[in-house]
Amino acid sequence: MLTIYNTLTRSKELFEPLSPPLVGLYVCGPTVYGDPHLGHARPAVTFDLLFRYLTALGYKVRYVRNITDVGHLENDADEGEDKITKKARLEQLEPMEIAHYYTERYHRAMEELGVLSPSIEPRASGHIIEQIELTRRILDAGYAYESNGSVYFDVEKYNADHPYGALSGRNIDDMLSCTRELDGQGDKRSAVDFALWKKAAPEHIMRWPSPWSDGFPGWHMECSAMSLKYLGDRFDIHGGGMDLTFPHHEAELAQGTAACGHGAARYWMHNNMVTINGQKMGKSLGNFITLEQFFTGRHDLLAQAYSPMTIRFFMLQAHYRSTVDFGNEALQAAEKGLERLMKAVETLGKIVPAAGGSDGIPAVSDLERRCAEAMDDDLNSPLVVAALFDWVRIINSLHDGSVTISEGDLAELKRIVHRWVFDILGLRNEAATGSSDHLAPVVELLLGMRAEAKTDKNWALSDRIRDGLLAAGIKVKDRKDGPSEWELE
Ligand code: ZN
Repeated sequence: MLTIYNTLTRSKELFEPLSPPLVGLYVCGPTVYGDPHLGHARPAVTFDLLFRYLTALGYKVRYVRNITDVGHLENDADEGEDKITKKARLEQLEPMEIAHYYTERYHRAMEELGVLSPSIEPRASGHIIEQIELTRRILDAGYAYESNGSVYFDVEKYNADHPYGALSGRNIDDMLSCTRELDGQGDKRSAVDFALWKKAAPEHIMRWPSPWSDGFPGWHMECSAMSLKYLGDRFDIHGGGMDLTFPHHEAELAQGTAACGHGAARYWMHNNMVTINGQKMGKSLGNFITLEQFFTGRHDLLAQAYSPMTIRFFMLQAHYRSTVDFGNEALQAAEKGLERLMKAVETLGKIVPAAGGSDGIPAVSDLERRCAEAMDDDLNSPLVVAALFDWVRIINSLHDGSVTISEGDLAELKRIVHRWVFDILGLRNEAATGSSDHLAPVVELLLGMRAEAKTDKNWALSDRIRDGLLAAGIKVKDRKDGPSEWELE
């Protein structure tokens, strides 16, 4: 039975979907104004793992992950320029050119990382009408006010009826005492209030008509409006990075409750952050590394290039609620570990079952049980990896012949390993590129012909096949007691 840690209740809870086999999953996606980096990869990989596991459990998951292409201001206090507008102005491009360009780059990076596409990927700019409608509902419910063409959420009024800060654990009185001196500035009644709709300044390019002004929605509105549209006013899981807990998710929870009388998501899940050499990643610290820089090794802090699967595997080796520290040594160790795992998967394909049956190995079902228990415990992927590595050792022993496996157990072991390594952890064997899947039957055919040539004592032909394969980068290893083996050089 799957249990997940619910940020809202601060406890691990049994996962019970509202209407099985359907599961509604909403995850906050990227703001598309810069190159994808580790801060994008961590939530994407975390919730990809959840998406894959729920699917493997037989659920039909409607996974909504949005694209923020409007309304995310430079700071969380509703001040500064829209991040995309700013970039557009600096580069003299249309805001939608910026959004399109970086959305494409995000998609490419996610594909490299083996992150599956969500079921729906809505854009904030495509849901302005829904955001205006939701703003109106919150106004009608009495939890928002209009001020000089903008609409703000009335946090103090809301807090009198519903606890504001329930998700992030913040206390509104503390927040008010910290921000008191800002009161009276701008159009807000209180510094803790946040924008549902912002009136656009004359130079602001991205703007839409609304009952209040020509303007644009506040950042938190899009996720409330789009989750409501695609998943309804009650759905199962809302996810995102821990940095979004406040103010973004707190505001989302309040907006939904103000409009519908109750929170929309039953479980809130948050992945922890990544650090680089023990430090928070930031442009000012000079340790801001994009995914492309990791993949190519083109950054002063990187000793080498790290493949997308190394990055993914490295993240999966940590629990999603722990921080992950990216450093060269740790990444190199992950690279070696992944190579060992993939080698074992290849070796598994070459193991010959023993007529005498399984001997000297644990029950094959133990691997599946350990993996499932780990994932059921709040997606404990590091324990899944540990279980797989115990079996890497067993697979290597099977291969050197010190222990044996029956035909039935071997088939079952292959099924389990493939399911967990490829389907659920979402890894792929980067060494065996697309072509080697097609290559295998051809090589096997040639090796079969070579075996026949040897039987006929046609050594010349046998050597020609071996040398020809070697020239093509395929190394043949002859074994005394069985068919020859091969590997890509
Ligand atoms: Zn969001």
